Amino acid sequence: METASWLEEIQAALQAASSWGEVEAIRVAWLGRRGRITEALRGLGRLPAEERRSRGQALNALRQAAEAAISSRLEALKAEAELAALARERLDMSWPGVVPRVGRLHPVTRVRQLVEDVFLRMGFSMVGGPEVESLWYNFEALNMPENHPARDMQDSFFVNVPGMVLRTQTSPMQIRAMEAAQGRLPVRIIATGRVYRRDDDATHVPMFTQMEALVIDREIGMADLKGTLLLLGRALFGPETQIRLRPSYFPFTEPSAEVDVTCANCHGSGCRVCKETGWLEILGAGMVHPTVLRNGGYDPDQVSGFAFGLGLERVAMIRYRFDDLRLLYQNDWRFLQQFGRGEDGW
Ligand SMILES: [Zn+2]
Repeated sequence: METASWLEEIQAALQAASSWGEVEAIRVAWLGRRGRITEALRGLGRLPAEERRSRGQALNALRQAAEAAISSRLEALKAEAELAALARERLDMSWPGVVPRVGRLHPVTRVRQLVEDVFLRMGFSMVGGPEVESLWYNFEALNMPENHPARDMQDSFFVNVPGMVLRTQTSPMQIRAMEAAQGRLPVRIIATGRVYRRDDDATHVPMFTQMEALVIDREIGMADLKGTLLLLGRALFGPETQIRLRPSYFPFTEPSAEVDVTCANCHGSGCRVCKETGWLEILGAGMVHPTVLRNGGYDPDQVSGFAFGLGLERVAMIRYRFDDLRLLYQNDWRFLQQFGRGEDGW
């Protein structure tokens, strides 16, 4: 009968179809509003009654078979497409993964945070000031007049503006902080920042980071200075750390002291790092010179104070145990990635 060969025709066409569009075209040709099966069903009314019944059954069976064949072909095409996509996007699990580089804090930044944390907890406030500084703030107000020999010691970078210099120390912030306090007590500040000197060797670089501390109040003495320094030393180098003060000279403090901490490497027994002395020099300190107090607007007969300046690169060298300060500024990833992980993992 006719419908059997129609079904074979439909199945052959579907087998040859390789896309959803081609299958849809076959569906329209047979089952669409003007499709061959649809037209045949529509023509049933013109047939004699006895023929109409059997032909109707055959056509309906054909329509169902055609619909089933079409949807199974669509399913098969969909499965083929999925397999092709899987093959295309195949992931090779044996390939090495992509490890993102994690940034780390620079050793000097870590040390700065540690030191600032110690002093903020003691009630100090943080102040900042200009890196291009006047000769008055950088030298004269700090008891270093023009012909003072200490001005030679710190070979300076002068700029093309008369009377200005790249600051050689953070000590100008002592004067600026006193001026800002306008005679009020206490003055209790730290100032961290870059300073510039004409030095360049394994233990000196032309730009480095200094931290200045200044305390002014009534009856401030050397014991206050020593207690503060001991606390700082232990925060930076561990709770067993001891400090010692050796007499020294700075124009802006009197008396002045070089401050040593017990060697973080050998804990005082003597090693190569501390040149067998057991001590490492870390900073300069002293009682604020009366002239400096006066230049900041304070009466040295009424108040006293202490100050110290600390090179953060030097602290980083001791804390992280490396011996060339220039490594800090060469931006070598292999060096820098060893530090700045956080609290005790450095
Ligand atoms: Zn040592």
